[in-house]
Amino acid sequence: NTEKTSRTAHPDDSVVLVSGVPVGGGHFAVMAGPCSVESRTQVCDIALAVKAAGATLLRGGAFKARTSPYAFQGLELEGLSYLQAAREVSGLPIVSEILSPLQVELFAATVDLIQIGARNMQNVELLREVGRIKTPVLLKRGLASTVAEWLLAAETILAQGNPNVILCERGIRTFENATRNTLDISAIPAVKRLSHLPVLVDPSHASGLAWMVPSLSLAAAAAGADGLLIEVHDNPDLALCDGAQSLTPEEFGALMGKLRTLLEIR
Ligand code: PEP
Ligand code: MN
Repeated sequence: NTEKTSRTAHPDDSVVLVSGVPVGGGHFAVMAGPCSVESRTQVCDIALAVKAAGATLLRGGAFKARTSPYAFQGLELEGLSYLQAAREVSGLPIVSEILSPLQVELFAATVDLIQIGARNMQNVELLREVGRIKTPVLLKRGLASTVAEWLLAAETILAQGNPNVILCERGIRTFENATRNTLDISAIPAVKRLSHLPVLVDPSHASGLAWMVPSLSLAAAAAGADGLLIEVHDNPDLALCDGAQSLTPEEFGALMGKLRTLLEIR
């Protein structure tokens, strides 16, 4: 039963308002920023750069769900406060990943859009808890989840009373190892046929390769995505997390130019 997420129940595209920024229903959103917040100046500088290039939201991880427990785990509360500082200087709403149902109050008070990561897509208690508030939620697709399972995870949030869900395809686990994951472009039309919720694409985690991010971004836009989530770092070689898939602000600016042309004719 996916009655609340289904297009039958709600034929028009939903527009989710993220602190005044509309996402969906023809409003293309570009959320850009570092994988992890590393310092106040880093995230503020990147915020100003991506804003100048046309980004509509700033992304940045503060609590990181790393595959290895020995990898950088994020600046945690300090990271959230630096993100807030970057929102202040840039005017961009902020999106950051939540890890636990115990953090819902903290995130509702701090960020404009709460990200649920691929590893937590089926954390039912977390889905229920963000369903009890009204802060918008960015729900990433699980590493090996079907579209049906992903929509049921969204339904779990809507069923609790929070209608503000944005979906994000970030690549799935397949046999292919030329890329970090396999971007499922077909998930965009599949979800848009089944559901009224906005669908974003994260080409950074989908490929793991910065040079491939522009092609995948344009493909996602051409296939009807409602926006993109893109990792941007001022010095990818020194990034504490996901440097190999991060665009420089200059590369991001060039991509934004191509995207604008494509979106005009879409
Ligand atoms: C991220 O956005 O930095 C992230 C960890 O993504 P995912 O949950 O898709 O792996
Ligand atoms: Mn990342």
